Amino acid sequence: MTNTDTGDIEATVAQVRALARAGSELVRVTVNNDAAAAALPHIRERLDAQGIAVPLVGDFHFNGHKLLKDHPACADALAKLRINPGNVGRGTKRDPQFADMIEIACRHAKPVRIGVNWGSLDQDLLTRLMDENSRAAQPLPALEVTREAIVVSALESARRAEELGLGHDMIIISAKVSGVQDLISVYRNLAARCEYPLHLGLTEAGMGSKGIVASTAAMSVLLQEGIGDTIRVSLTPEPNGDRTQEVIVAQEILQTMGLRSFTPMVIACPGCGRTTSTYFQELAQKIQTYLRHRMPEWRKHRVGVEEMTVAVMGCVVNGPGESKHANLGISLPGTGERPVAPVYEDGEKTVTLKGEHIAEEFQELVERYVQRTYSSIAS
Ligand code: SF4
Repeated sequence: MTNTDTGDIEATVAQVRALARAGSELVRVTVNNDAAAAALPHIRERLDAQGIAVPLVGDFHFNGHKLLKDHPACADALAKLRINPGNVGRGTKRDPQFADMIEIACRHAKPVRIGVNWGSLDQDLLTRLMDENSRAAQPLPALEVTREAIVVSALESARRAEELGLGHDMIIISAKVSGVQDLISVYRNLAARCEYPLHLGLTEAGMGSKGIVASTAAMSVLLQEGIGDTIRVSLTPEPNGDRTQEVIVAQEILQTMGLRSFTPMVIACPGCGRTTSTYFQELAQKIQTYLRHRMPEWRKHRVGVEEMTVAVMGCVVNGPGESKHANLGISLPGTGERPVAPVYEDGEKTVTLKGEHIAEEFQELVERYVQRTYSSIAS
C-alpha cells in the first residue's frame, strides 16, 4: 500500500512504480478526499503510459460513497474497491452508504474487498454480540466475542453485498487484527465458514524486525493450512524509509515457505570465529542487492531465474557443501585458510577466485550463469 498523498500524482505514480518494480502484484492507495479521487484516473493513465499494469485498489473510509458518486472516473481507474464495514457510516447512515458503494461497484463491474479491521470494528455489532453473550448460560470471554464480531462483520457485510446485487465471485474478505494468535483464530474461523477468497495481513504489525517476525509468524501458520489468497505485510517504515520493504518481506515469506518464487535467493552462513573480517558479509549483501537489482529485467526475459539459489559461505567447514547444493556458490577463505575462494556451479567446482576482485568476478559469474541457464524470451 502506498503512503503518499494520493492527490500528489507524481509522488504516487513514483511509489506505485517502485512497488510494482519490487514485484507487488496489487497496490492499494488511499482515497480519502476529492483530490485523491480526482487524481486516480491520472495516476492510472500515467502508469499505463509507462507500461506499469499493476492493478490499483482504492481504500475507502467514511466518505467513499460520496467520492465514488462525485468522481465516477475514479471507480473506472480502480481494479477493486476496499470497503471497511466499520467505517462506512454510523447509525442510520451505515446501511444506505454501504448500499451506495455496492451499487457503484456493481455498475462499474468492480470486485469489492470487505476489509474488516479490529481497530475500526462495527461498534453496534460488537455491542449486540456482547449483549447476547452476557445473556448466555455460559458467557464466553470478551476476547472470544470480539473475534466472533470480526468474523460476523465480514460475513454479514458480504451477504448484504450479495443481496444488493454484487456477484458472489466479486467479493474478497479480509479481517485484520494486530495480534498473531487473534489473526490465526479469526482466519481459521473465516475459512471454515465461507468460500470467499481471503486477503491475509497482520495489521499494525509494527516496525523493523518485530513487524516482520509477527507478520511471518501469523501468516505462515495460515498459509501452511492453505488459508489465504493474497497477502500484505504492513510495516511501519523508518522516517523516509523504503516502502518496498513490505513487498520484499511478503515475497520472502512465500518463497522461503516454498509456496512461490519471486527472486533468486542468497544462502549465507551467519559467520563465526572462523571469519574475522566482514568481507564475506559484504559479499553476501552485495550479491543479494545485485540479484534484486537485476530481477526486474531478468523477470521479463529469463524463464525460471526466480528459482535460482546462490550460496555465499564464510569458510571451508560448510562452504563447499552448501555451495554444491546451490545453483551457484562461493566458499570464501576463513581465518588461516588459503586465500582462495572456490566457486561451484550446479554442484561442480568450476573456478577458484583469488585476489582483490573476488566480489566483482563472482558477480560476473552470476550474470553469465543466468544468461546461460535460463532461456531467453522475447520482450
Ligand atoms: S561456514 Fe564457516 S564461517 Fe560460516 S558459520 Fe560455518 S564455520 Fe562459521
